[in-house]
Amino acid sequence: MKIALAFAEKGRGRVRPNPMVGALVVKDGMILGEGAHLEYGGPHAEANALADCRSQGNDPVGAELYVTLEPCSFRSPEKHNGPCTEKIIEAGIRRVIIARPDPNPKVMGRGIAALKKAGIEVVAGVLEEDSAALNEVYEHLISSERPWIHLKVALTLDGFIAAEDGSSKWISGPDSRARVMEMRRDCDAVLVGRGTWEADSPSLTVRDSEGRELPGYQPRKIVFSGRESGGTLFDRLCALRSEGVHSILVEGGSGVFNSFLTEGLWDRLTVFQSPDFLGSGIPFCGSLGIGNIGGKVQLKGRTTEISGRDVVISGTREDMACLQV
Ligand code: ZN
Repeated sequence: MKIALAFAEKGRGRVRPNPMVGALVVKDGMILGEGAHLEYGGPHAEANALADCRSQGNDPVGAELYVTLEPCSFRSPEKHNGPCTEKIIEAGIRRVIIARPDPNPKVMGRGIAALKKAGIEVVAGVLEEDSAALNEVYEHLISSERPWIHLKVALTLDGFIAAEDGSSKWISGPDSRARVMEMRRDCDAVLVGRGTWEADSPSLTVRDSEGRELPGYQPRKIVFSGRESGGTLFDRLCALRSEGVHSILVEGGSGVFNSFLTEGLWDRLTVFQSPDFLGSGIPFCGSLGIGNIGGKVQLKGRTTEISGRDVVISGTREDMACLQV
């Protein structure tokens, strides 16, 4: 399943807002075919793995299929592919091992039920958390009207995002800046507040270490005026989603972070903590109305890594729930 999850990564940035999925056809401990969902609207991972198996002259009859997400089992006018469950049954697969049941209400358990009904043995929940983490954007979009929101902040050792004059360039080191470029490439849009936009003139583009804009995909730029804070913020985000913005990287400043955090409109927070300090400056997010240590915001599923001279702490607002189907 770890190999199948690595295959799923091949679809990163290419299949959204659909999930990244990987699949392997295995017989007698040998991988006979491998596949991933590679293009939005393209064949699903299961179909690609079966096709790969056959193209090498291998027979999938009696084989096992490892797949990182429950195979789909429905047809609809918006859907580009027929049900993968039918392809698996037709191929004579003996056993299907699934990482994560599909949280899409149109599938959730129905794919597993269809396979079992055809006499196929099914094992679900193998490395389920890894699959859910891989597709955290998809998981969010299934259950919410707004885009997935990733807050990204670079902090000094004493918790400031900028000096008193508003300047904030190069708080984090080059390794961290390279990571930010990957985070931008992974989102449909990058958002900053007007204050940050005017103080720093950030390009908000995906660039190389020399500052040159990289060819290929660039996220949409969104500058918030500040008028969106308060109850209008949620509506503005939903409007962006209806325009095809499914994921947003929010890069500040303080007022913007405060609005998103106060209203609970965020899904992941990544902090780049630098080893420099300023003594005074612009705080990360201002008051969140938390008067007591018992009310502190705690990141779930937290990871802590070293990035060059910085420490990177990342986590989510909510825990991933295992699905019982
Ligand atoms: Zn499918």
